[in-house]
Amino acid sequence: GPDEWLSTHADRSPDRRFLLLEDGSALTYGHFDELVAGYGGALRQAGVKAADRVVVQAGKSPEALALCLACLRIGAIYTPLNTAYTPAELEYFLQDADPALLVLDQEADRPKAVAPGVPVETLGDGGTLSAAARTAPPHREQARFDLDAPAAMLYTSGTTGRPKGAVLSRRVLASNAAALARIWEFGPEDVLLHALPIFHAHGLFISTNTVLAAGASMVFLKKFDAAQVMAWLPRCTVMMGVPTFYTRLLERRELDQAAVKGVRLFVSGSAPLLPETHRRFKERTGHAILERYGMTETLVISSHPYHGERRPGSVGFPLPDVQVRIADPATGEVLPAGEIGVIEVRGPNLFDGYWRAPDKTAQDMRPDGFFITGDLGMLDAEGQIHIVGRSKDLIISGGYNVYPKEVETEIDSLPGVKESAVVGVPHPDFGEGVIAIVTPLPGAELDPNSIIDALNGRLARYKQPKRVFIEAELPRNAMGKVQKELLRQKHRGTFT
Ligand code: ATP
Ligand code: MG
Repeated sequence: GPDEWLSTHADRSPDRRFLLLEDGSALTYGHFDELVAGYGGALRQAGVKAADRVVVQAGKSPEALALCLACLRIGAIYTPLNTAYTPAELEYFLQDADPALLVLDQEADRPKAVAPGVPVETLGDGGTLSAAARTAPPHREQARFDLDAPAAMLYTSGTTGRPKGAVLSRRVLASNAAALARIWEFGPEDVLLHALPIFHAHGLFISTNTVLAAGASMVFLKKFDAAQVMAWLPRCTVMMGVPTFYTRLLERRELDQAAVKGVRLFVSGSAPLLPETHRRFKERTGHAILERYGMTETLVISSHPYHGERRPGSVGFPLPDVQVRIADPATGEVLPAGEIGVIEVRGPNLFDGYWRAPDKTAQDMRPDGFFITGDLGMLDAEGQIHIVGRSKDLIISGGYNVYPKEVETEIDSLPGVKESAVVGVPHPDFGEGVIAIVTPLPGAELDPNSIIDALNGRLARYKQPKRVFIEAELPRNAMGKVQKELLRQKHRGTFT
């Protein structure tokens, strides 16, 4: 059945370890299953039914994870929110998701009167839902659902605009879990180092479901702390992280081959991994980081090969059963290998659509069922995907396409530069003019004109920024992604 991957190990090997916790304790599959049954019972007692949304803004804990699986068990739509969202921001999500229940941490600031009529329960030691989970009749059986039934709604990161609610069916979860466990060769002996948040697809489904599908275990850390991760790595066989995890590990002097002796695989995703990071990590540890590409709307789309060369700058091959093509953004015409266009995806991993936004969903779908990701890229001769940026960030200056990533890579390699963001703003002659916002390394003094001079000869003239702004930092959203729209707004009057 569609949900087999969720229950097999609890039924067949209840004594196997599932979660290893910071305090040194462990939760077996059997124990965890009891926790899920408790929360299933508590949800039923609270009147939650199949297809109801359960909005959860809570810290990372075994209870929060059990609550997610309890929703899957009874067919409620689990809808986690980034813990960084303020009570005011919560208002938007509550209005949008229209939930039957809101679950917060016990100590959370309650949004006041933002959701009249939405019952609020709490998680944690003295939490109301946690108390009910101990006393309500446990809900043990997995209800039978269709593969097409909605399983969860995850909000996108809000990098290009307001976060959108992506509704994922049970097929999306099941197919991605099975594919990843297979291609990354997960088995019951694997121990995953899990330091990601569980309100985002990466930590919630991509990591956890792969572990569940394989009957493996995971070290479940509340947040990423480089020293703590170094201390746990010797007990782990796999780590999954975002690129900043790797740059922060590289700052640890104790990172070397011996420190990662038992690890067989390092995976990176959610944002571009700089080839420089890939190279330095290989040099220090002997491991080529495996990069994969995904989205909230699709979970994982592509991955470097597990066996075979992991080429930095590429995000690998589409998963088995997933189809990827490159199309002309304007006409939808499919482009040959080597040409840059918008990345389109179809397969069992594709979401149902944006929550209560059929127009937005239709806009992003081709008639033959391919989803327009909004990422620009190309396929090489072997069929590996290369991402060059987002279509919303493409700059067209004087009729020429400028891919910001190419310009940023050049700027970032200049002495004293920490990072940069290249955007286009209105220009009377060129349509859009290229500008760069550059941040200095600690203690470095940067001069805008010398940056412009340094790029002369390294980049074609039309790609060179016409103006450079030195700023202390780049604006980032709650997932740590750079918000270029804010930069475009701020500097829109540069040439006009
Ligand atoms: P929003 O859709 O709200 O603007 P978002 O697209 O950042 O936000 P997510 O679904 O969290 O929200 O992120 C998916 C995006 O992350 C992809 O479309 C892609 O741009 C980027 N991404 C993910 N993995 C990689 C990768 N390995 N390399 C480069 N970019 C990646
Ligand atoms: Mg997106």
